[in-house]
Amino acid sequence: MTKTVKDRQFRPVAVPDVELGGFWGKWQDAVCRSTAETLLDRCVEAGMIKAIDVSQPSPGIVIPIQPWGGTTQMFWDSDLGKSIETIAYSLYRRPNPELEARADRIIDMYEKLQDQDGYLNAWFQRVQPDRRWTNLRDHHELYCAGHLIEAAVAYYQATGKRKLLDIMCRFTDYMITVFGRGEGQIPGYCGHEEIELALVKLARVTGEKKYLDLSKFFIDERGTEPHFFTEEARRDGRDPESFIQRTYEYGQAHQPVREQTKVVGHAVRAMYLYSGMADIATEYRDDSLTAALETLWDDLTTKQMYITGGIGPAASNEGFTSYYDLPNDTAYAETCASVGLVFWASRGPDRRYADIMEQALYNGALPGLSIDGRTFFYDNPLESTGRHHRWKWHHCPCCPPNIARLVTSIGSYMYAVAEDEIAVHLYGESTARLKLASGAEVELRQETNYPWEGAIAFTTKLDRPAKFALSLRIPEWAAGATLSVNGTMLDLSAHLTGGYARIEREWSDGDRVALYLPLALRPQYANPKVRQDVGRVALMRGPLVYCVEATDNGEDLNAIALPRELPPAETVVLDDLNGAVAIDISVEREETEDWGKALYRQTRPERRPHKARFVPYHLWDNRAPGEMLVWVQADK
Ligand SMILES: [Zn+2]
Repeated sequence: MTKTVKDRQFRPVAVPDVELGGFWGKWQDAVCRSTAETLLDRCVEAGMIKAIDVSQPSPGIVIPIQPWGGTTQMFWDSDLGKSIETIAYSLYRRPNPELEARADRIIDMYEKLQDQDGYLNAWFQRVQPDRRWTNLRDHHELYCAGHLIEAAVAYYQATGKRKLLDIMCRFTDYMITVFGRGEGQIPGYCGHEEIELALVKLARVTGEKKYLDLSKFFIDERGTEPHFFTEEARRDGRDPESFIQRTYEYGQAHQPVREQTKVVGHAVRAMYLYSGMADIATEYRDDSLTAALETLWDDLTTKQMYITGGIGPAASNEGFTSYYDLPNDTAYAETCASVGLVFWASRGPDRRYADIMEQALYNGALPGLSIDGRTFFYDNPLESTGRHHRWKWHHCPCCPPNIARLVTSIGSYMYAVAEDEIAVHLYGESTARLKLASGAEVELRQETNYPWEGAIAFTTKLDRPAKFALSLRIPEWAAGATLSVNGTMLDLSAHLTGGYARIEREWSDGDRVALYLPLALRPQYANPKVRQDVGRVALMRGPLVYCVEATDNGEDLNAIALPRELPPAETVVLDDLNGAVAIDISVEREETEDWGKALYRQTRPERRPHKARFVPYHLWDNRAPGEMLVWVQADK
């Protein structure tokens, strides 16, 4: 019987087993050179180190308590956690003893901070010690623990140092006594999901099933009745009705997770939850979770996702609104939400997931980081009047370390291995050292200038011939893709399984696979239900969404109209944008000069031919500031 996609249990490849060059190598260099250190510098400036250093007085409340009863200061542990995680991955690429020593000092402080019973949280130990475990709905206590766990796992794997891992195991062992349905235990879960996926990582690195069980407990309890958040509020003397977000949809706790069919609420929370659910589905072979995730995936990607893979249009709940509501200029589309979408998509079984992973990675997450790795976007609108710029830092600095840890660990999202199969989900210049469960060891060299060019060549390095399958994702957009092995063309359609070209054979040292993905320019139109995109068109080339910027095209970008039949376009390599490929294309442009002072008139604007330059959306606002637009006018 031929194996179906679902029977193949793929594991992501460890971060250090993939060495990146080309496109991703440059981004990793920017993080190693600048971002990793910048993150720590900003954490210091914000007062985060002082907050965990028991040898100094607590800084107290630096960021005021908000109407929701908390402060972003409550998340500081998570910012330090994600920064340590970024540093851990960056050390693989560029050893940096100074940076490592800084991380070690932070870990030492956490060791001193940790309570006798294992509890660890800077805010609830030093600022509001009487409020521990009293408001899981709002206060991010387990969320912070989750990020410190992820940091602990990454730092242990990168440096071999166990201190933070041991600290977080102690804390988690304590959590196991605190949470549960037993006498005196808390039958609850965190308002901001994250701990679920972190516990799976902890279980996988320690081999301890008890950590998986705790993760499953949090997932199983979520949204059940009597509702934990309501009971918790009553116990704490708060009115459950006065919840500032009004609905438990905000944290995907309105229903048991297996009954949820619509993606709702805070976008980052949703993505972290679904990632954790996917992990638990894999670990427990729980088809009921997988079925719910399939429904939620369709709901998100067919009704609620920007073309950039940005998600969560509204600032008010940092999340989802109604179907097809995708405003461009006010798009919230938090960088973290697209990072979370990449996490979830990376756990998916086939191309439907991996295509979106790539789309969200390049166009939703990566815009969050500037080329030099020093400034950041939090929200990612698809249209700007010129006032939206990258931040040096943010009062809620969740996004910078999130995109940084994703960039530095991207190799593990590119490749996955099963017992006798290697899957390549993402393309990019790299060398991967892969060990199959069958024991075969393969070094796979990938030579390419992707995503700028579509030619991708793989070369195998093997000690002795080995039989396995190499599965290469053929993106849905790649019409006309071709594939050859050692110069012999393969019939792609005969090899497709779940959107992957599966080449099963006995491989020898020096075998060459050539994949060609045509990067034809593709006009993209939105479903007319998306009112904000009616009469508009966006351009994509390969996985990249393009935009126009004022620095190339002058002001009034909405005057640009793209012809119905795309005219021939020229590609131009831009050295000041890391060798990015820009597109020069003939368009029409509405005249603004002959209007004089008129605001309105009876005659339509005159149009004149114009040459427009489109640049990759993820690179916008890296040069002169100004207007930006993704969806331009489409000619009728
Ligand atoms: Zn964020």
